[in-house]
Amino acid sequence: MQPMSDAARFPAATCWFCGRAPGSAASVALPFLSLPDHQDIRVVVLPRCDACRAVHVRKQTHPYVIVLGCVFPLMLGAMFLPVSEDVLPWAGAAAMLTGFVLGLVVVAQRDIRVAKRHGIKPESDMVGHPLYQQWGRDTANWRLQTGPREARKHRTHARWTSVSDHRVAFANDATAMAALEQGCREANVPST
Ligand SMILES: [Zn+2]
Repeated sequence: MQPMSDAARFPAATCWFCGRAPGSAASVALPFLSLPDHQDIRVVVLPRCDACRAVHVRKQTHPYVIVLGCVFPLMLGAMFLPVSEDVLPWAGAAAMLTGFVLGLVVVAQRDIRVAKRHGIKPESDMVGHPLYQQWGRDTANWRLQTGPREARKHRTHARWTSVSDHRVAFANDATAMAALEQGCREANVPST
């Protein structure tokens, strides 16, 4: 009997982030390595469509820029506070800390806001996916690797990357590639 072709398995599973379009090679790939020696690899794939990926990895101001943009004005303001010179360094430190926290909140809220505008789940919502929960919780045996370095180079703050990104990163690693293909089959999304 012929192995089932991709065409026969489709339609692909529906995108988990919008619930509208079919999942594609833009699906999220989460490689888990076995502990303690990283001998085994397992790739959990969460169905995602091309449009949702485009929203998740869109070009945006780098988080560092936003954090610094919050820190500097506050510190500058602190320098001109009518306080004694003894207190000034503390005021500066407090301003720096406040700016830093404020920056982090702005960065965290931004992705959620953008996703909401497009009527989809933000990428960070994947931690609520049952498969993520199942594998992510088993911290004694499996550890999630963040996105491959090759993919990060191009989208510095896309922490979680797609199946197609991982295909590039795993090009010279047959075991990892097989795990990726397996993940795609289990999720019922195309791997290319
Ligand atoms: Zn989608």
